[in-house]
Amino acid sequence: MKKYLMCMALSAICLSASAQQFKMAGANDERTKKMDPRHSEFYDPQPAKVTPGDITTNSAPSDAIVLFDGKDLSMWVNDKGEASKWIVNGDGTMTVNKQDGNLVTKDYFRDFQLHLEWCVPADIEGEGQARGNSGVFLQGMYEVQILDSYNNETYVNGMAASLYKQSAPLVCPIRKPGEWNVYDIIYTAPTFKEDGTYRTHPFVTVLFNGVLVQNNTMLVGTTEYVGFPAVQKHGDGPISLQMHGDPSKAISFRNIWLRKL
Ligand code: MG
Repeated sequence: MKKYLMCMALSAICLSASAQQFKMAGANDERTKKMDPRHSEFYDPQPAKVTPGDITTNSAPSDAIVLFDGKDLSMWVNDKGEASKWIVNGDGTMTVNKQDGNLVTKDYFRDFQLHLEWCVPADIEGEGQARGNSGVFLQGMYEVQILDSYNNETYVNGMAASLYKQSAPLVCPIRKPGEWNVYDIIYTAPTFKEDGTYRTHPFVTVLFNGVLVQNNTMLVGTTEYVGFPAVQKHGDGPISLQMHGDPSKAISFRNIWLRKL
């Protein structure tokens, strides 16, 4: 109970704090140095399970930038800016290469609508955060979590379609391992004052298999594994797909496109 109250207190602080309070937060913050990852995780309330409707694969709209059409990774590089070694499977999908870091778009973006589809292997093993973990980083800084949350308890602000360590999804409409899931993400980039704090925060809407799970949710800062988010001034940024180091089998992606807003 004590740990639960501590986590809830941190969550409440995160939701009510001003950007000024988080300007110097993140890994270098004195409060963060006294924390471990559990201090920013909470388990209640559990988002209700919802069975999604039958969404067929979308083809990209005519004004979209196609980031992955199933054929190659020409729009992407790895963390080092080199050609990625993620695996293009030849059937319209690609699979994370756990030896080659994250997958990062060459292009940078501000406000956008992003569509992507992901699939956890049917024979996935592991539990908690070590079960099909990946993620999509908006402007390279703010993670929408990807995880097998079909039958896998973890902290709710770290489950599929959470804004990692900040906001749990409203409900959980995930499909079982082996089936494809769809994210449609609408992102409004932050603007900054001269002192580096937010003039307007980043906001994120997520439709998960067609079901609204993040409703124009405000981010209070960067995605941090330990401690408080940080407010870090930045400009346009890439879309990044996470290579998570957990030992479970790698997940796959298909049909990724983006519309600038
Ligand atoms: Mg992740």
